[in-house]
Amino acid sequence: MANNKNTNSSKHCVLCGRGENEVPLLLAGLDGYICSDCIEMAHEVLGQQMGTVRKEESRHARLENLSKPKEIKKYLDQYVIGQDRAKKLLSVAVYNHYKRINHNLVDKVEHPEDEVELEKSNILMVGPTGTGKTLLAKTIAKLLDVPFTIVDATVLTEAGYVGEDVESILSRLLQEADYDLEKAERGIVFIDEIDKIARKSDNPSITRDVSGEGVQQAMLKLLEGNVVNVPPKGGRKHPDQDYVHVNTQNILFICGGAFEGIERRIAQRMNTQVIGFAPSGVKQVDKDNLLQYVEASDLRAYGLIPEIIGRLPVITYLDQLDKKALKDILIKPKNAIMKQYAKMFELDGITLEIEPAVYDLIVDTSLENKLGARGLRGICERIFADAMYDAPSSRKKTFKLTLEYAEEHLSKNN
Ligand code: ADP
Repeated sequence: MANNKNTNSSKHCVLCGRGENEVPLLLAGLDGYICSDCIEMAHEVLGQQMGTVRKEESRHARLENLSKPKEIKKYLDQYVIGQDRAKKLLSVAVYNHYKRINHNLVDKVEHPEDEVELEKSNILMVGPTGTGKTLLAKTIAKLLDVPFTIVDATVLTEAGYVGEDVESILSRLLQEADYDLEKAERGIVFIDEIDKIARKSDNPSITRDVSGEGVQQAMLKLLEGNVVNVPPKGGRKHPDQDYVHVNTQNILFICGGAFEGIERRIAQRMNTQVIGFAPSGVKQVDKDNLLQYVEASDLRAYGLIPEIIGRLPVITYLDQLDKKALKDILIKPKNAIMKQYAKMFELDGITLEIEPAVYDLIVDTSLENKLGARGLRGICERIFADAMYDAPSSRKKTFKLTLEYAEEHLSKNN
């Protein structure tokens, strides 16, 4: 700041000394004046200082208040029906992930002699579509209050091809974190449909492998924990662009895929391992649910490269949802579809009453059309369409959804 105290003018800034003719504005205090330039500068400095303090505080606070695996599972139970095994594994993996960040960031700074560097454990969830893989990842991110983004592996291509570069994943995470780099670097990325980028060499109809092994190689860079140059606003890399350097070391990657047909490979492996006997540790092979035995070698046979599998050490599976599970999904979770409809009616001052047989109709229709949990909302929309149109203008205080009404509207709005 300039220190040329202006003695000619009676009014001057007590900080920089400039007179009232030399500054945009002088603000009067009890014993003197401060100019608008100094106020602006002070505001900037203060903002930076406070920002650093707040970031440090929030880092410690969040990591110290980290929920234990049992608490994480309990939270997931409120939103996700069934899938107990996946919930447990996920809770432990997520807890360990953030414990590890705590150890590497905080403990190691306070105790530099501690040489144990904990490595991260990304997660792979194998299970049919619509069984709750995305929902699990989303719910965990909500609990932890960390930036979260979902990407579809099928849109990713190797750099230079039409499609999105893998770096775009980090652009989105940055966006989710409001461009707070430190926050983004502790976020969660859910990569959906990872099975679709399996190596396709087994499949003779596909001659080029733009979205196969090449993408897996590119993705490896993110999973491994590297500093990656990311175009901040997404889009293609451009030589003149300023990149944000994102360190992926503490970003948790959760991958999901249906891996259709992988049961055949699992069955093959189990048959060749021990003919007529169950593999060690397994009392009796449950032939109807082979996915539960999935392991790294099956994924490799399916077309994931060993390096990728090596970076996804936690492998878990999700069960196909049966009728009971679908019915529970309809009514039990905290934000269950039926609770949402009840709320919509309530906002118009109407109480929604539903005949229990309607739930069976919805679930059976979804099962018949092989839509699983994903189909439930669409079916409900068809049933409720007319009621939602009429109800707000109606004087009735109750809307009773009977089986007859539901059947009629389901076929009408087909
Ligand atoms: P996936 O990622 O396995 O294909 P999603 O998590 O996207 O499936 O599920 C689609 C929708 O179905 C979710 O938004 C949710 O409403 C519902 N759903 C699926 N599985 C469950 C579950 N286990 N518990 C509660 N809702 C579920």
